[in-house]
Amino acid sequence: MQRLGKNHGGYHGETIDIRAVLQEIEMAAPAHGWTAEIFHAQDGFPWPALHRPARHMPRAARIYLSAGIHGDEPAGPLAALRLIQANRWPDSAEIFLVPCLNPIGFQLNQRANAAGIDLNRDYRNPKSAETRAHIAWLERQPPFDFYLCLHEDWEAHGFYLYEQNPDGRPPLAEKIIAAVRAVCPIDLSDNIEGRAAVNGIIRPNLSPPQRPDWPEAFYLIGYQSRQGCTLEAPSDFPLATRVAALVAAVNAALTI
Ligand SMILES: [Zn+2]
Repeated sequence: MQRLGKNHGGYHGETIDIRAVLQEIEMAAPAHGWTAEIFHAQDGFPWPALHRPARHMPRAARIYLSAGIHGDEPAGPLAALRLIQANRWPDSAEIFLVPCLNPIGFQLNQRANAAGIDLNRDYRNPKSAETRAHIAWLERQPPFDFYLCLHEDWEAHGFYLYEQNPDGRPPLAEKIIAAVRAVCPIDLSDNIEGRAAVNGIIRPNLSPPQRPDWPEAFYLIGYQSRQGCTLEAPSDFPLATRVAALVAAVNAALTI
């Protein structure tokens, strides 16, 4: 697959109209059994959280998905929209989905929020209103069996992921990589972002108390979920490929 060669020193690829994407999500979700809560609003943008109850009992898993915390990573919110429209969730799963954690960043086509705060480093002692509102929403939710945070990386040579699994549960990473491989190249580097990687999989061994600036995933592992993956689609490949990679990853993880 041909790389775009566009991203030098940052993301220079396609942008999205996040307001239109959120409106499409708002229209598609109720028809497929989701309810929405707007847990924050700022500069005319909503921060929706969607909930889809399990259709069959006993419930097999309670799963949390989030996207769009970095405003220069359009594949995540688009994958959330695509997943809602495709409506292929397992009936036994209860799903919580936050499709865009940084709409203002998308409007500005920048990673951080309007004040320049990287929201995905703001979960230990939150300074931003966005992260405080998100944490307040998370605190009202039940524990999750696992989380999936949808991202992109403009430097990546292919798709990769981080899996946190401190209790040694059956891993999610391998089945995700196997599914994504069919639609997107995998980054096979043995070192990604300064961490050892094998076959596109990074298993961070840093415990949250050791790190001063928590990403969302550290908050989740610390308080709400004992397993989960941060999914990184490679920004130097076409947007449709990145969206397909994230959709395939989520569907693979949800195969319970
Ligand atoms: Zn990101």
